[in-house]
Amino acid sequence: DNFESFGTHPTLVTHLEEKMRISKPTSIQKLVVPHLMSNLNDNDLFIHAQTGSGKTLAFLLPVLSTLLNMKERIDRTSGAFSLIIAPTRELASQIYQVCLTLTQCCHYLVPCLLIGGERKKSEKARLRKGCNFIIGTPGRILDHLQNTKVIREQLAASLRYVILDEGDKLMELGFEETLTDILKIIHEIPLNPKKFPSLPSRIIHVLCSATTTGSVTKLGNV
Ligand code: AMP
Repeated sequence: DNFESFGTHPTLVTHLEEKMRISKPTSIQKLVVPHLMSNLNDNDLFIHAQTGSGKTLAFLLPVLSTLLNMKERIDRTSGAFSLIIAPTRELASQIYQVCLTLTQCCHYLVPCLLIGGERKKSEKARLRKGCNFIIGTPGRILDHLQNTKVIREQLAASLRYVILDEGDKLMELGFEETLTDILKIIHEIPLNPKKFPSLPSRIIHVLCSATTTGSVTKLGNV
């Protein structure tokens, strides 16, 4: 009943204990971490979880562990392996902060935050330097996808995990069309599974939501 027995990378397990005082997985982490860790299981996943359940680590830990377990040498210039979309700037910033804390144990992996505001130029500069996790809000991510070539370069070949957090809130705030556009662009980016053979050979979609009814079910079809 600990993170290590689920295949979480030992460096990350130690880091969780020492830096975040986290040693026992929550029930949602017990379900999600082993599922996403297994490359054989390269199925899309719906996570039914409330805020406070530990859902952020439930999706970040397996993705980061998979990257730490990779046989290929990777660094910030290897591309973005994961795209995480959240409904608000606050939530995206929180996920980014957790990702920053986790990557303190592996400085060669770098997250990047794309949210609305005045930061577009610096976001572009950061994308150009390279990042492995792109975390942001739908409007700003679509803006970059449509207008900055560098984000498509970062995603090409390496993208394997697309995570939509708080799917119910994304729908409530009217992001359905934006998300459809984002996914359409992403699915048109050519993927080269041979470049990283130790990763899943296709994009895994993860949808988190506190509710399973109503419009969120539509997101699963996007
Ligand atoms: P979340 O549901 O992702 O918003 O997480 C809620 C809070 O629970 C955050 O402050 C986490 O740091 C904390 N947390 C997540 N996983 C664990 C765990 N396994 N043990 C103790 N606290 C946790």
